[in-house]
Amino acid sequence: MENKNSLERRNFLKLSLTAAIGGMAGKMFGSNWSANPTIADAVAREVGKFPRRKLGYSQREVSIMIGAGDMPTPLVEAGVRSGMNYWHKANRWMRGGAPGVIKNNREAHYCQVTVDRVGGDHYSGRFDEEEHYRYVKEAVRRTGLGYFDDMQLHYGYHNAAEVKNERGFVRAFERLKKEGLVKHLCLSQHGYAGSSRVENGESATSVLRAVAEDGLYEHAQFMYSYPGDPEMDDFLKFARKRNFGTIAMKTARGIGRMRQDEEFMNRLPEGVAPHNAMVRWLTTETLFDAAVIRVRNMDEFTETYSGAGKKLREKDLQALRMMTREANRTACRMCGKCQLQCPRQIPISDILRFERYAIDDNDWNKARRLYASLPTKGNSCIGCESCMQTCPLEMRIPEKIARAHAMLG
Ligand code: SF4
Ligand code: SF4
Repeated sequence: MENKNSLERRNFLKLSLTAAIGGMAGKMFGSNWSANPTIADAVAREVGKFPRRKLGYSQREVSIMIGAGDMPTPLVEAGVRSGMNYWHKANRWMRGGAPGVIKNNREAHYCQVTVDRVGGDHYSGRFDEEEHYRYVKEAVRRTGLGYFDDMQLHYGYHNAAEVKNERGFVRAFERLKKEGLVKHLCLSQHGYAGSSRVENGESATSVLRAVAEDGLYEHAQFMYSYPGDPEMDDFLKFARKRNFGTIAMKTARGIGRMRQDEEFMNRLPEGVAPHNAMVRWLTTETLFDAAVIRVRNMDEFTETYSGAGKKLREKDLQALRMMTREANRTACRMCGKCQLQCPRQIPISDILRFERYAIDDNDWNKARRLYASLPTKGNSCIGCESCMQTCPLEMRIPEKIARAHAMLG
């Protein structure tokens, strides 16, 4: 049976833009794509211009949907036509240089360099002023961007004490700023409370408060998904008062798997697409300044981004209620509340995050690679169910962990 909720994508299917997925994008459109105004204009018309909001203390006007350096070039082009002007992970353009549409109009865009800890991953890696400094200089050179507007600490701090005591990243930023190579400091923050892989890990909200109070960082990017999160909502109010900018990430909890479930999709109200409803809600009913939401092709671009800043309709609300029920049963919110309970120190929220990469984003390589790097895997679970006592979603965690191990192990 045909899925009635794919209706909103039909115009774009006619244009055969689904072929823009992955490598096909380059083959089909390559560098000539930008010379095809018909396609770009059609996309921009369908999506409309993104509203802009002021971000952080600089009060720069940023599109509420921000792009990323790992988007296929045709999607970057379509984003620019729709008014996208902030680019997360712009250092991904180190391999072949930044797209011409950005480089040739550099001052119209905000480009962010994402910087990891060194000598390990975000659990075991350390801060190293010299290494961070060198990396950003190299990224400036290889992308051809001339400078980055934002220098982002990827994955953030483990706890509030680290914010105060580990200044290597900030020192690297200050040196680069003096040289005119970066302008603002920001971070993406994960939660580390209960993690067996870091000492004294704290939740994302507690670290974010410490960062906002410290006053050096301009904005932060962190996980948030429908139907909202009271702890994060408190932080959003606090951030607004302080002119600390906020960008939502990993917002589409469980939507990928819902879209594969024809029975679920057919129960949704006519003319509602899940990503579109979620984006309407996120951009009109929360206090976020912007959001980064991964799209892989023109269908997803149109369906998702055409909801940005648009009124939430009654039928969207109805769909969101159904999606919430479904997601609460199947997709982890990555709050980390279960972590402290596990006697085997299994990184539950990491495992369920990787499961989301596989099932919702269809990024099995990434999911398997990350799962392989875990020191303790799902097969260590003894089924004691202690974790379930603190899960706000009352998820069947041992079963989910076992299934994730079978898929990714
Ligand atoms: S059921 Fe498994 S994952 Fe949950 S606390 Fe027990 S050992 Fe840890
Ligand atoms: S399993 Fe439950 S408690 Fe654990 S991170 Fe996910 S939503 Fe939070």
